[in-house]
Amino acid sequence: MRLLIMGPPGAGKGTHAGALAALVDGPHISTGDLFRDHVGRRTELGRLAEKYISAGEYVPDAVTDDMVRDRLGRPDAARAFVLDGYPRTGTQVATLDALLDARGAAVDAVVELTVPDDELVARILRRSAVSGRSDDTEDVVRHRLAVYADQTAPLVRAYGERGLLLRVDGTGTMDDVRRRVEGAVAAIAGATA
Ligand code: AMP
Repeated sequence: MRLLIMGPPGAGKGTHAGALAALVDGPHISTGDLFRDHVGRRTELGRLAEKYISAGEYVPDAVTDDMVRDRLGRPDAARAFVLDGYPRTGTQVATLDALLDARGAAVDAVVELTVPDDELVARILRRSAVSGRSDDTEDVVRHRLAVYADQTAPLVRAYGERGLLLRVDGTGTMDDVRRRVEGAVAAIAGATA
C-alpha cells in the first residue's frame, strides 16, 4: 500500500507514520527528516533548505520533488511506503501522481490527522524543549500553520474528492490516535484486498 499522512505541523504525522510503515511493510519517508539530515550534513541541498525551514516556509518544489523522486526510486519503496509531509503543494501532488502513474501505481489512501490549532501550538512549544528545531518557536509555528492552511489544506480536500481521505481525530493519547489510525487503514486494506 502507498499511503500519505497529512495534517498541520504538530498533528503527530511523524509519530504515527512509523507504525503505519510497519503495517504496510514499506519505508516511512519524511521529507522534513530528509531535509534535516541534509542540513545536519551541511550538503548543498541542506544549506539551501535551511533558510526556508527556519523561516517556516516551504522549500521550493523543484528541489523537494527531485529529492522525493530519488527516494521513491529506491527498491525498498517499490511496492509500499508511507509519505510523511509530502505532497504539500499542488505541483507536488502532480509530480507524485505522474511518478506513480509511470509505474502503473497510485496513492491508495491519505490519512489526515486533525487537531485544533491551539493544541498544535502548545504541542510544538512543548516539543521545542527537546527537538532543538529552529522552526519550533511560536512565531514560526504560527506562520507554518498559516502556510499549511493556505497551501496544503486545499490538497487534503482534493484527495477527499478523489475518495482517498481517511480523517482521523488526532487528539487524545498517543495510543488512542495510533489505534484510530491503524483501524482506519486496516478497514481500507481489508476493502481493497
Ligand atoms: P516537517 O518535519 O514535515 O514539519 O517539515 C519541516 C520543514 O521542512 C517544513 O516546514 C518545510 O520548510 C520543509 N519541508 C518538509 N516537507 C516539505 C515539502 N513537501 N515541501 C516543501 N517544504 C517541505
